[in-house]
Amino acid sequence: MAMQDLTPFGLFSDLDRTILPNGAQPESHRSRPALRTLVAHSKMKLVYVSGRDERLLKQAIREYSLPIPRFAVGDVGATIYDIDDHHWRPLIEWRDNIALDWDGASNNDIAALFRNFDRLRLQEPEKQSAFKLSYYTAMDIDNTALVAEMQARLYSLGVRCSLVWSVDEVTRVGLLDVLPATATKLHAVEFLMARMGLDVENSVFAGDSGNDLPLVSSGRLQSVLVKNACADVIAEARQVLSSLGVNDRLYVASGNFYGMNGNYCAGVLEGLAHYLPDTLAWMGLSQLSDD
Ligand SMILES: [Mg+2]
Repeated sequence: MAMQDLTPFGLFSDLDRTILPNGAQPESHRSRPALRTLVAHSKMKLVYVSGRDERLLKQAIREYSLPIPRFAVGDVGATIYDIDDHHWRPLIEWRDNIALDWDGASNNDIAALFRNFDRLRLQEPEKQSAFKLSYYTAMDIDNTALVAEMQARLYSLGVRCSLVWSVDEVTRVGLLDVLPATATKLHAVEFLMARMGLDVENSVFAGDSGNDLPLVSSGRLQSVLVKNACADVIAEARQVLSSLGVNDRLYVASGNFYGMNGNYCAGVLEGLAHYLPDTLAWMGLSQLSDD
C-alpha cells in the first residue's frame, strides 16, 4: 500500500477586502462556497491574519459565513488565537515570545510614558490588550515626528516596540498602535508555519492593501494580491520583489478563473491554485460559470 502524503497546505489570508467582499468591486458569488469546500479538506490549514480583535473576527466569520480557521492572528499581530472548533484561546507561546520585547513592562507602564502627550488619546478599553496599546490621533498629524518622539521615550524604558500608524478613512481619525517589536503579522505567520510544520513551498499568503505589504514584499512568503488590491500596493510589491530578485513570490489575481472575477475570495483561490495546483481539486469548482 502506498504511503499517503500527509504534508499539509497552509492558506494565510487577510480578511477585509481580501476574503470579505466589503469593498466597491463585485464579488463572484461562488467564491466563498468554494473556500468553505476547500477548507473542509483535511490537508488544508486556514489562518486569518487581520487587524481585527477577537470580537470583530468572530463577527466577520458569522456575518459572511466564513469557515472556522485553525488559527487567527488578530490585534495587528499582538495575539494568535488557537481555535479548537468554536473555542478560542490566545496562544501562550506567542504571548511569551513577544513579551520578551517589553522586558517585563506592562501596557500600563508604557501608557504612563505618554500621559503628557496631548496629541494622543487612548482608545476604548476593549481595543487594548496585554501587548497592544492603541491611541487615536488627528488624521493630519505629523506622524513621523510623533513616532520618533515616542520611540525615544520607549528606548529610555528599555522596551523594543513597533509603532504602527494608520488612518481610518471612515471615521477620519488617525490610529496608532504600540506593539512589541516582534509582534508583527509577518513574524506571527512564520511562527505558525513552524508550529504547523509548513514550509514556504506549501504555504500561501493573500492580502489587498498597505497593511499587508510587510508580508507580501518580505519576499519570504508565496503571496497573492487579489484583483481589487490598491494599484499602488501592487506596484510597490512588484518593485520591491523585483529588487530582491524574487518576482515569483507574488501573484496578482487577474480573474477568468473558473468564470470568477478575481476579486476578494475568488482572487485568493486563483492565487492558491497558481502556487499549489493540488488544491484546485478540493475547491469543488467546475468549468461551468454562472457569474
Ligand atoms: Mg485588507
